[in-house]
Amino acid sequence: MHNNSLILVINCGSSSLKFALLAEGKRTPILSGVAENLGQPESRLSIRQTSDKTLVGLEGGDHRAALAALLTTLRQRELLGSVAAVGHRVAHGGERFTGSMLASDTVLEDLEAISHLAPLHNPANILGIRIARETLPDVPHVLVFDTAFHSSLAPSAYRYAIPSEFYEKAGVRRYGFHGTSHRFVANEAVAQLDLDPEDHGIVVAHLGNGASATAVHDGKSVDTTMGLTPLEGLVMGTRSGDIDAGALFHIAREVGYSLDELDTMLNRRSGLLGLSGLSNDCRTLESAAAEGHAGAQLALDVFVHRLARYIGALAMAVPRLDAVVFTGGIGENSSYVRAKTMARLGPLGLMLDAAENERMVGGRCGIISSSLVPMAAVIATNEEWLIASDTSAIVRRAEPMHAS
Ligand code: ADP
Repeated sequence: MHNNSLILVINCGSSSLKFALLAEGKRTPILSGVAENLGQPESRLSIRQTSDKTLVGLEGGDHRAALAALLTTLRQRELLGSVAAVGHRVAHGGERFTGSMLASDTVLEDLEAISHLAPLHNPANILGIRIARETLPDVPHVLVFDTAFHSSLAPSAYRYAIPSEFYEKAGVRRYGFHGTSHRFVANEAVAQLDLDPEDHGIVVAHLGNGASATAVHDGKSVDTTMGLTPLEGLVMGTRSGDIDAGALFHIAREVGYSLDELDTMLNRRSGLLGLSGLSNDCRTLESAAAEGHAGAQLALDVFVHRLARYIGALAMAVPRLDAVVFTGGIGENSSYVRAKTMARLGPLGLMLDAAENERMVGGRCGIISSSLVPMAAVIATNEEWLIASDTSAIVRRAEPMHAS
């Protein structure tokens, strides 16, 4: 790889393909965007380069058409020749994939074998990887797993208290997700908050449409709120987070819901949307609550209650709590959610600096606590950069092997 090499980062969903093109070592993408509604008549690719936005109609095209259109754009902008590697985000690595790695036919077969652990996400990821390898056959492709950062969890943190056969035969355990974000933000916290890289305890709260929190001890994930799937833990945009499994038996028996209906209800109709009856969007709920919408207020209250409860629980997973860090769309922008959550964290010794909290929005990051141990801070996540950085590190490590 040359020093001016570009890394293409791809995150393939069931009907979307997000991408970013980064120069090695640079944190801001040269170009980024998303292809949405793939397979539908209104499918289109939107590309952002600095403040410029281009829309390309895909006329019902699928992932292959989206990638082809993206490569055409890169060629037209004379960027394609500099793409030295592709980094792929993969949702679930199971127990097999504990770190980022080069894609190969065998690796993809192994990945396919654990697809049942993430039936909504992994098949789309694999499809994207296959198409990208066919479309860009001359560059290495690297897989970066959302679960990998949590492979350091101890059995006491990852086992469910159900009969062992389900773990041993079917891999039913807690895996955790948002690993690239938690890893990036924890590393940034160590650097920005001047913590000891060899001796620190941090709780990272990644609050976006999906939300999870992780306890990080000396750079390693030691506990996290998501489980076998991204449904466990915090309240999310449309996902319930924790719910008594007994409530599901009750709903199935009393309301007559099937397994698929329960799945849809918990993943798509719950969380902020289900509680408020209004929206999954935190901004909308904050405005509605301010105007007296009871459902919006309840949704925000439950969100904050669960978050504070989990930050407290995760603090018990580290020997000493140095910092609580907020990230993701809500964590980086909602001074309201942060203030309400911080007001609950007094028992951990956390005190809010209200003025700094109000200031840390719209891309501004920094400390929002008046307490110094522990601190609270806002740090912007950058998963694309971490994927690009893992990709170039792995490709560089592999290069001498290829050369020999
Ligand atoms: P995703 O998980 O899809 O990547 P994001 O990290 O972009 O999601 O977060 C989306 C969430 O961030 C939405 O609930 C949105 O309302 C919230 N958000 C973005 N800006 C603000 C803001 N200024 N105030 C409150 N919430 C915000």
